[in-house]
Amino acid sequence: MSAVNKVKLRGIGMTSQRTRERLIQRLIEQGIENMAVLDVIRTTPRHMFLDEAMAHRAYEDTSLPIGHQQTLSQPYIVARMTELLLAGGPLKQVLEIGTGSGYQTAVLAQLVESVYSVERIKPLQNKARQRLRQLKLYNIQTKHADGTMGWEEKGPYDGIISTAAPEKIPQELLRQLASGGRLVIPVGGVQQHLQVVTRTQEGFQTEIVEAVRFVPLCSGTVR
Ligand code: SAH
Repeated sequence: MSAVNKVKLRGIGMTSQRTRERLIQRLIEQGIENMAVLDVIRTTPRHMFLDEAMAHRAYEDTSLPIGHQQTLSQPYIVARMTELLLAGGPLKQVLEIGTGSGYQTAVLAQLVESVYSVERIKPLQNKARQRLRQLKLYNIQTKHADGTMGWEEKGPYDGIISTAAPEKIPQELLRQLASGGRLVIPVGGVQQHLQVVTRTQEGFQTEIVEAVRFVPLCSGTVR
């Protein structure tokens, strides 16, 4: 049994396998088709990414507070964004903007070669890093910084995902996208839409996927 699986099994006392299975069924009903994504969500202990007071709700298909006015995204959205990111084929270098709890990071790390994740709120980054280490996911690097600037040194990326919504897509994220790479990002203010931007030989191609609700992408950092 892998180390990740051992840690996961310890959590089962608190949330039954049946509760998790119900969540997976719900994601399938909502149109998630990528089996690898569904498998990773089935086995990743979402309760470990929440404070104790919220952990009992971990396998509901809902977003949940993680402090600092931020939220852990709804499982459906995590699944959908991951599926969209992977739709172009296997990925090596992936940049994530908005580590938050680290849950989306953990899901990604089990599906791609390397994940680079940027978070602007220091205490969230610290907590996320601890959890990811506990899960023995070692193909992740995190950084405390303003993600609107991307993470130039580690790029270019064949996938970029943002879990916070800008009014307009930051130029740096487009610039750090490799040719053929995909950016999955919620865009807008009060009304937001999930977009997939693909970098082609000629330029950028944008697909609008669906209406979503994310916390705003803010500039600057918080200690
Ligand atoms: N993927 C996270 C979702 C967290 S909510 C999870 O699964 O828990 C979005 C996160 O984006 C918040 O933690 C917020 O602090 C962060 N964020 C917002 N603007 C940012 C920026 N400019 N750079 C980096 N992180 C940012």
